[in-house]
Amino acid sequence: MRPKPAPDYLAGYPAELTGQVRTLIEQDLLAARLLRKYPLPHTVRSDSALHDYVQALRSEHLRNAGQLSKVAFDGNLQVLRNALGTHTRISRVQGHKLKAKREIRIATVFRDMPPALLRMIVVHELAHLRHGEHGKAFYQLCRHMEPDYHQLEFDLRAYLCHLDATGRPLWSTATATAVASTEAG
Ligand SMILES: [Zn+2]
Repeated sequence: MRPKPAPDYLAGYPAELTGQVRTLIEQDLLAARLLRKYPLPHTVRSDSALHDYVQALRSEHLRNAGQLSKVAFDGNLQVLRNALGTHTRISRVQGHKLKAKREIRIATVFRDMPPALLRMIVVHELAHLRHGEHGKAFYQLCRHMEPDYHQLEFDLRAYLCHLDATGRPLWSTATATAVASTEAG
């Protein structure tokens, strides 16, 4: 079965780059490249581990950005459509005060990702605490938290293209073990 053409996760990138990704996927070479660059999955497996991970980054970089009421992996996010996560500000009346609640939900596809790509999505969502739009200031803040942000976002988008075309996750715990033993042999 021929892989489907990559959808527009790479929309806005130069045609030369997106063409390279498409060719690598068609030749089934992208997976190996990504695994070479990012060999192991992260170990942030639960919502509470994710919560601690996000709070640590937040207190390092965005101490004054307001409290987060909830941090969780969310299996209901359209995994591939909203893979860059959602950011919500829910206003609730508490007593006579209107309190803005901020939640960060990360699509469950990120549960099985390498540490660098988890960091990238968390940096992205944290930057939204300051900036709603994906503008210049937003990306500056992303780069402040993670200097390699742009390369990581590109690699993530390339991986999403791979996932969409092949349906084969690269960093589920079982996959990682299989690849490690193949490489050892
Ligand atoms: Zn965003």
